Amino acid sequence: MSHGRTGGLSPFERLRSRFEEQDLVCPKCGYDDADGRWLVATGGNRIRYRHLCPSCGHVRRRTFRLGEE
Ligand SMILES: [Zn+2]
Repeated sequence: MSHGRTGGLSPFERLRSRFEEQDLVCPKCGYDDADGRWLVATGGNRIRYRHLCPSCGHVRRRTFRLGEE
């Protein structure tokens, strides 16, 4: 029973799981991108999220910094 990752989520994984609970509804056109997801890019201690609305092309971006919860 020594493998598995329960109870040891990294800050990145915690942040991602929390973030993915957020809606994927475009604030501009109201399209619900239920099959979509936020694309994640990491760099240094930052995590950048990007979501492109497949309906109107509106891009949302959010940036988080690790260690600043
Ligand atoms: Zn849209």
